[in-house]
Amino acid sequence: MRSQIAELRLFKTKICMKCNARNGWKAKKCRKCNSSSLRYKAKEKRA
Ligand SMILES: [Zn+2]
Repeated sequence: MRSQIAELRLFKTKICMKCNARNGWKAKKCRKCNSSSLRYKAKEKRA
């Protein structure tokens, strides 16, 4: 299904918690500010 592919692409992105820059999912540090505070870009559950 196409929607699944789109979700996989979202998972392959990490967002820097400091500067919100996008990094590859393999990245260990932000390429912009060098911070290691990266989180996966995933859907957040809202109650
Ligand atoms: Zn950053």
